[in-house]
Amino acid sequence: MSDVLDLRRGTPTDADMEKINKVSPRPLSADEVYIFGLRLCDNEIDLDFERFTSQSLEGLAEMYIGKTGVLIDCQEVGRIFYIEVVREHERLTEAGDVYCWLKAYAYVVRTDATENLISEIKSGGQKEVSIGCSFNKCRCSICGKDIQTCEHIKGERYYLNELCFVDLEDPLDAYEWSFVVKPERQTDNTRVPTVARNEYRALADELRDNFYSTKANLGHNNLLLRAACAIEGLLKKLE
Ligand SMILES: [Zn+2]
Repeated sequence: MSDVLDLRRGTPTDADMEKINKVSPRPLSADEVYIFGLRLCDNEIDLDFERFTSQSLEGLAEMYIGKTGVLIDCQEVGRIFYIEVVREHERLTEAGDVYCWLKAYAYVVRTDATENLISEIKSGGQKEVSIGCSFNKCRCSICGKDIQTCEHIKGERYYLNELCFVDLEDPLDAYEWSFVVKPERQTDNTRVPTVARNEYRALADELRDNFYSTKANLGHNNLLLRAACAIEGLLKKLE
């Protein structure tokens, strides 16, 4: 199975250099750049109850070629030179589709400013990628209409406990990506006392209750539910 660990990093091959020089503003040589692989996004339903369809991933793959992204921590810029849509036929998403994700390769020019970042990528620190893009269609999974105009609310369950989520279709623009490398995550979870964890759990419950009792305000609701999910996600990681 493909995993982030399979992604190459380091010195580019000749084939990489050919692709890099197609998107680079000036000709670069192999010793000037450092390359790294990243998982840009996939077709799982995210914490906002939205997902990219496999077709929108194909569209995004084309749009992200040559796009620069911020490499947070050193504020330098990397540029994507290769993307492919990876399909893992043996794995299904929560919605029951074949799991797909965008495997991308980016390069960064070696300078004093990127030295630290490169050594953190080398040491295999935890990586987080976020992307910003816009879509023509945001389709409701329950009725197929635009989520802005239909009566359903994403994150809620309808009929036979069917989750309402949004299919992001027909990408309009891929305007950014960013990449954060963090040192290896601390695995010692005794650092967060049980009392604090219980408090977070109570807070998540309260946010969720609030969400269900104030359905009228959509934007507000969404934020409450996202906050509850985020806290629950963190608690899960600590368990
Ligand atoms: Zn709907």
